[in-house]
Amino acid sequence: MSGDASDDRDEFALIARLFAPLARSYPGALGLGDDAALMDVPAGQQVVLTMDSMVGGVHFFADDPADLIARKLVRVNLSDLAAKGAKPFAIMLSAAFPQDVGTDWLRRFADGLAQDCHDYGVALIGGDTVSTPGPLTLTLTAFGLVGQGRALLRSGGRDGDKVFVTGTLGDGALGLLSRQGRLPRLDPDLRDQLTRRYLLPEPRTTLGPKLVGLAHAAMDVSDGLVQDVGHLCRQSGLGAVIIAADLPLSPAAQQALADDPSLLSKVLGGGDDYEIVFAAPPEHADKIIRLADDVGVAVTAIGHLRSGTDVVVQDGQGRPLDLARTGWRHFTDTRG
Ligand SMILES: [Mg+2]
Repeated sequence: MSGDASDDRDEFALIARLFAPLARSYPGALGLGDDAALMDVPAGQQVVLTMDSMVGGVHFFADDPADLIARKLVRVNLSDLAAKGAKPFAIMLSAAFPQDVGTDWLRRFADGLAQDCHDYGVALIGGDTVSTPGPLTLTLTAFGLVGQGRALLRSGGRDGDKVFVTGTLGDGALGLLSRQGRLPRLDPDLRDQLTRRYLLPEPRTTLGPKLVGLAHAAMDVSDGLVQDVGHLCRQSGLGAVIIAADLPLSPAAQQALADDPSLLSKVLGGGDDYEIVFAAPPEHADKIIRLADDVGVAVTAIGHLRSGTDVVVQDGQGRPLDLARTGWRHFTDTRG
């Protein structure tokens, strides 16, 4: 902690009071009252760990609602666990709060954290809070469990696998445009739906673990579909064909693209989807779609893996799309 002002001390005491209840469900958190937490790993399981940071003015707007900032922070991390087939159980938070963050803001932030800890069944088992002269900076580490050697990796894809994606694509990137007031023609209800998806992604935590043993490879879509499929392909030593006409779009995204077809670049290359893209053998397709249906998640086949190194996006007639013309910069760059 930096600074000795009594205001600061009050604030950190408040944070301790707000956060301690989030540790109650996990005895190894020691009530957040010790130097460290203790973690048992059940026999036959592995802990999957991931960490994501969010910086005010970079990954969210300083005036985004505090509870939604907290919940997005949790969710982007849980999305990575889901993509590995892991069930989340704990998080750790490192937060650098600017001096002007007030008590009300902190309470709303803690409320958001509490809500998602409850909804996703995770405990806050430790972390650190400091004050900073810079922007609000949040780092969350999330812990999940998966059967020993069973995690879904990017590297497991095989030639001929179908490529599937959960949910819908492009809502996060279009939601950012909406949040910036850059979709003025769109119906206000649809604009709100997109903004909501940007502010509050839906990590596929129920489906991810069900894909273990069925999918060969998986990752979450956070940097943009084509770029992320490129990551999976590179790790698997393969290329991919993606059929643009098969990409699942929400009604709001469909309307936005009808108004402005160039927004297809946001669907293919925008970030913040937090869906799972995965490769699975065609013979598992029916079972996967049934399992996804059971947990209320749509799964759509969008292409396949093949030998090679490129991710090619085709139109409905099998012609490669000229993505450069849609304004998308990363067409030939899958290095990320
Ligand atoms: Mg990821």
